[in-house]
Amino acid sequence: LFLTFEGIDGSGKSTQCRLLADHLRSMGREVVLTREPGGSPGAEEIRRLVLEGDPDRWSAETEILLFTAARRDHLERTIRPALAAGKVVICDRFADSTRMYQGLSRGDLRATVDSLHALMIGREPDVTLLIDMDPATGLARAKGRQGREERFEDFGLDLQEKMRAGFLSLAEEFADRFRVIDGARQMETVAADVARTVAAALDA
Ligand code: C5P
Repeated sequence: LFLTFEGIDGSGKSTQCRLLADHLRSMGREVVLTREPGGSPGAEEIRRLVLEGDPDRWSAETEILLFTAARRDHLERTIRPALAAGKVVICDRFADSTRMYQGLSRGDLRATVDSLHALMIGREPDVTLLIDMDPATGLARAKGRQGREERFEDFGLDLQEKMRAGFLSLAEEFADRFRVIDGARQMETVAADVARTVAAALDA
């Protein structure tokens, strides 16, 4: 089973990924917890290239190629082997983040993202948990974190609003695999909701 978490910065999805991994392991499942950009040695190198340094180093199109290259390596080296071994893969962000961030934040490049996805990735998650949250709350949480390498928090509230709306419309576009979870509640409440949703998918 291939599960992904999506959501704006500070939505708490990384915490929810960990809690779900702990929960599934306690039920005897073998779990691989991974993230994007990154998740394999090569893709982690690309992560450093795109998340550190001057954000204007590459054009928007080049950035899409880098994210796609990272995803391809991650898929080949980490995700596919784990799924083939019968493990549950939980990934913190996947192609939907590229549809949003690279596809929307620097102009409308969704068609480019989709073409490269069809050519080089193909695979979609079985279930995507969208941890939905008001951007002001999310941004305040993201800014409160220490030692973050990311440049993307400078996105600001306007873009976060755009990303939230984009994720919600993506959830409608891919309604078969998306589940929208209200992330503004207590961490434990959100985790219980996530666990219930995933249990239903595992039974299906
Ligand atoms: O998942 P996390 O919030 O740690 O992501 C790190 C940063 O990279 C975030 O600020 C996110 O907005 C950004 N990002 C991006 N494009 C992606 C994935 C993540 O801009 N495809």
